Amino acid sequence: MNIILLGPPGAGKGTQARHLVETRGMIQLSTGDMLRAARSSGTEMGKKVAAIMDAGKLVTDEIVIGLIEEQLTTQTGAGFIFDGFPRTLAQADALAALLAKLGQSLHTVIEIRVDDEALVDRISGRFTCGGCGEVYHDKTKPTKVDGVCDNCGSTEMVRRADDNADSLRTRLMEYYKKTSPLIGYYYAKGDLRPVNGLADIKEVTASIEAILG
Ligand code: AMP
Repeated sequence: MNIILLGPPGAGKGTQARHLVETRGMIQLSTGDMLRAARSSGTEMGKKVAAIMDAGKLVTDEIVIGLIEEQLTTQTGAGFIFDGFPRTLAQADALAALLAKLGQSLHTVIEIRVDDEALVDRISGRFTCGGCGEVYHDKTKPTKVDGVCDNCGSTEMVRRADDNADSLRTRLMEYYKKTSPLIGYYYAKGDLRPVNGLADIKEVTASIEAILG
């Protein structure tokens, strides 16, 4: 079962993907995570994309399609969760072609709907555990002990360089101009299933579980 989590930055795609990895053994393919890993390991590609990411712009289709192709051809498991990919119509077409080449298909596209005001709040308070990747929020999901991950006990908390007001404005504009057309694209294909991303994290999880069955 291969699924796409579609939604603007801050919608909760990463949080929900992590849950599906833990409960179903699916494989999360986050192009954002792959690009951040390339940056921190200092590869040529990582250096090339750093400024683009910090500004909140999309990196080229060619780069992200290459990253996804590499993962699809080297990993197997209980299905892929595409998180933050595809983000353009060209990426969506490329994904369909890649899956067809591998004799696989897309099960469903879950659109996590949230309004813009909520996104600004969510993104400005967001941080992640550097040890296990658990996602927290200053107001809505703080750690139980200040600075210590509830999940793994790590004290290394990371705030993303692009989680700031300027970059967020650009990221939202990129989303509306280039990614939101995918909602119509997958609706027309009959693959789209919306969920209310403004609900409590557990409720969103339950809605997704109900769709996946
Ligand atoms: P994310 O972690 O999904 O919010 O992605 C962080 C940044 O990585 C984005 O703002 C883009 O600069 C880049 N990025 C991630 N995924 C893609 C993609 N599918 N296409 C283009 N750029 C991407």
